[in-house]
Amino acid sequence: MRYLITGGAGFLGSNLARKLLEDGHEVLVADNFYTGQKSNIQPFLSNSNFEYIRHDITFPLFVEVDGIYNLACPASPIQYQRFPVQTTKTSVIGAINMLGLAKRLGIRVFQASTSEIYGDPEINPQAESYWGNVNPIGIRSCYDEGKRVAETLFFDYHRQYGLDIRVARIFNTYGPNMDPNDGRVVSNFIVQALTGKPISIYGDGSQTRSFCYVDDLVVGITKLMNCENVTTPVNLGNTNFFTISDLADLVIFLTGSSSQKKFLPLPQDDPKVRQPDTALAKNLLNWSATTELESGLKKTINYFEGLLSKGEIHG
Ligand code: NAD
Ligand code: UDP
Ligand code: UDP
Repeated sequence: MRYLITGGAGFLGSNLARKLLEDGHEVLVADNFYTGQKSNIQPFLSNSNFEYIRHDITFPLFVEVDGIYNLACPASPIQYQRFPVQTTKTSVIGAINMLGLAKRLGIRVFQASTSEIYGDPEINPQAESYWGNVNPIGIRSCYDEGKRVAETLFFDYHRQYGLDIRVARIFNTYGPNMDPNDGRVVSNFIVQALTGKPISIYGDGSQTRSFCYVDDLVVGITKLMNCENVTTPVNLGNTNFFTISDLADLVIFLTGSSSQKKFLPLPQDDPKVRQPDTALAKNLLNWSATTELESGLKKTINYFEGLLSKGEIHG
């Protein structure tokens, strides 16, 4: 199969590209390199099954492929809040273009949706049936509401045109190829610990998140893409949950760092809890995330140590 991955130079996209190439597929990446890194796709450039184009998905794209993974969108709060109008355009106009492409070709299209569509949830864990608690005008809204409209478009293209869609609601994922500077909690804490800087905890650190290792996630994504007769959104994530303060302690322990925790103001609308109910993924795909946080963090720490030793992180 020949797959298009939008956002394929990013963290998840490059890990997905590697898996699809390993599985013997051809991969075409379309990315505008807003948050993606050339270094993430550099290992694939010598593979004749791999191609990439610099392209912004808010513009139409005419290519010939057998399936689309639509991942393009900045995912870290710092990055998606930097140019919020562009973030909404990427989610909404980008979705329309990828749906139009899938419709013209009569192919299946996968949408990387997010746990953020549940907002600051009033129930925990979150199942797919929960409609969420989202501020429509806050600083996270460009991402949350953009992703919600993208889901609406996917389901309306399915209902109106019979388009073959897959929608995954992805919960916090971490691992190699995360951008050390994109401000997400796992990369921030590891880089701070490795460079002896204070560990920046927003708020009192009692908010919880569930952390999925990227190798587990890309298996879940491809299983969902290849599963027949699924149209409902499917949560993908690890069901573990940790406070942010616990995560800081674990990173300090695993790196042997002397960094201290530093408490900073909590950003507006930061969700207090988040944990996936993954019963649907288990039933439909026989999938669950199995990598323990400690083991995934060790591999991620190794990755960032490698970047540091190559001088690609400036401490
Ligand atoms: P990332 O920022 O590392 O990757 C996003 C990629 O999209 C980058 O390569 C960026 O350059 C590209 N991009 C952004 N706007 C674009 C545009 N208009 N046209 C073309 N390319 C564009 O983020 P990620 O963590 O790899 O996330 C990938 C997808 O998964 C996103 O859609 C995100 O919303 C979703 N997701 C990620 C997580 C997570 O924990 N990593 C959780 C939920 C959902
Ligand atoms: N589109 C695209 N590539 C294609 C086909 C369509 O980028 O191969 C874009 C097209 O520019 C349009 C969007 O997808 O703006 C939605 O297409 P659709 O056919 O749903 O709508 P229409 O063309 O009727 O507006
Ligand atoms: N966070 C933190 N310190 C950081 C980065 C993030 O305490 O340096 C917190 C953030 O406030 C949130 C959680 O960690 O409560 C997860 O943040 P991230 O940006 O990784 O993802 P989110 O789940 O908020 O989209």
